[in-house]
Amino acid sequence: MTWWKRNHVSGHPHHGAASHIGRVRAENQDAYGHFAAESEADHTYLYIVADGMGGHAHGREASHIAVEVVRRAYFADLTAPPEERLQSAFEQANRTIFERGLAEGPYEVMGTTCTALAYEGDRLYFAHVGDSRLYRISRAEVALLTTDHTYAEALRQQGTLTADEIRNHPRRHTLLRAMGIDSEIELDVVDLGTPTPDDAFLLATDGLAGVESEIMQKVVRGLEPQTACERLIDLANDAGGRDNITVLIVRFDG
Ligand code: MN
Repeated sequence: MTWWKRNHVSGHPHHGAASHIGRVRAENQDAYGHFAAESEADHTYLYIVADGMGGHAHGREASHIAVEVVRRAYFADLTAPPEERLQSAFEQANRTIFERGLAEGPYEVMGTTCTALAYEGDRLYFAHVGDSRLYRISRAEVALLTTDHTYAEALRQQGTLTADEIRNHPRRHTLLRAMGIDSEIELDVVDLGTPTPDDAFLLATDGLAGVESEIMQKVVRGLEPQTACERLIDLANDAGGRDNITVLIVRFDG
C-alpha cells in the first residue's frame, strides 16, 4: 500500500532544455546539461545551467567547464549525501576555472554563474552561485528559489535605494559571487524536499529576464517541457534578445 504517497512523486522526472544566442551578442557563452545515473538503489538526476563571462571565448569556456566538472564530480562517488557532493563539485569546478584563468594572465576575466538542480532519493537539492535562476512554478505561484548574487540584489536587501534607483543603477548587473573568479567559492546549497506532481522547475540564465512571471507560468504549465523551453526563448527574443538565453524545465507529473 502506497496510497499515502499519492501527493508525492512516483516515477521519473521529464525535462526539456534549449539555449539561444539571442539577437545582439556575437557568441553564446551559456552552457547547460542534463544527466542521469542509475544505481541499484536509486536514480540520480542532475540539471545544470551556467552563464559564462570573459573575452576571447573565455566565458564560453568557463561555462562549459562548469557543466562538465560539476557533472563528473557529482557522479564520481554516489555514497556521500547530495548536498556534500554538490558543494564539492562546485568547489572543484571553481578551482579548475580559476586555474585556467590564471594561466591566461592577470588581466583576463574568466568566470561563470552556475545553478544545478539534483534529484535523488525522492528529494530535490540545488546549488547556486551568480545570477542565473531557479523557479518553482506551481498552479498557485511562481517562486524564485535562488538569490541573485548581484549588486542590485545587495542594494535591494540594504533597503536604502528605491526600486527605480536600483533598476537604473550602473552597476546593477555586477556579480558579487561567481565561479572561477577566486580560489575559494561561497555558494548556496539548499534541500528543497520532495516535489509534488504539481511542481515544475525552471532553470534559466539572465537572458530570460525580460519575460514576465505570469507568462512564464502559463508557458511552463501549458506546454510540454521541450516546447515550453523553445517558446520561452522566442518570448525573450521578442523582448529584445539582448543576451544569450538558456532554459531548462523539469517536471514530475509523469
Ligand atoms: Mn547572461
